[in-house]
Amino acid sequence: MRLILLGPPGAGKGTQAQKLVERHRIVQLSTGDMLRAAVRAATPVGLKAKDLMDRGELVPDEVVIQIVSERLDEPDCSNGFILDGFPRTVPQAEALEELLERKQLQLDVVVELAVNEAALLERVEKRAAESGDNVRSDDNAEALKKRLDVYRAQTAPLTEFYRRKGLLKQVNGMAPIEEVSAEIDRIFEDVAK
Ligand code: ADP
Repeated sequence: MRLILLGPPGAGKGTQAQKLVERHRIVQLSTGDMLRAAVRAATPVGLKAKDLMDRGELVPDEVVIQIVSERLDEPDCSNGFILDGFPRTVPQAEALEELLERKQLQLDVVVELAVNEAALLERVEKRAAESGDNVRSDDNAEALKKRLDVYRAQTAPLTEFYRRKGLLKQVNGMAPIEEVSAEIDRIFEDVAK
């Protein structure tokens, strides 16, 4: 199974991806996690990304496209993967199409977690409060506001992009975690038919 999880910051993409990893033996490819690892390791990509991420802005398309392309070539992706946080712009989605075509892989489904914005602020504040010393440097009110603005302007158009391709499935991300994951499992079964 190859899928994209779509949804704003705080929608629960990471939580649901983790469950899918456990249940379906596929890997989670989170560009946010990969970039944070690059920042920690102070690689050239990390050095370029850090300030942008801290401000809640996007890292340039070609940087993330390159990271994803290389990651998809690793053997653990052969059983399937969940893209979490990528694509985030229409150019990234177009690059992904080309990339998958070149690698002779097909996307099965795009699952969008739909949530209302008031809840997002609360969820991200809670995540920041619970993570103690490990708090993400972009989990503060200012950066979150920026991340939401960026989502609305640059990522939200992907809903329509994938709807047109007949790949989009929407799930109510406001439901309890277990309900959301049951719903995603149903989508999986449908797609696998
Ligand atoms: P969230 O979805 O909770 O905002 P992520 O962990 O997915 O967090 O991403 C954190 C930051 O990493 C983003 O705000 C952005 O700066 C950068 N980033 C992650 N994925 C991408 C991407 N596909 N394109 C550009 N920047 C990205």
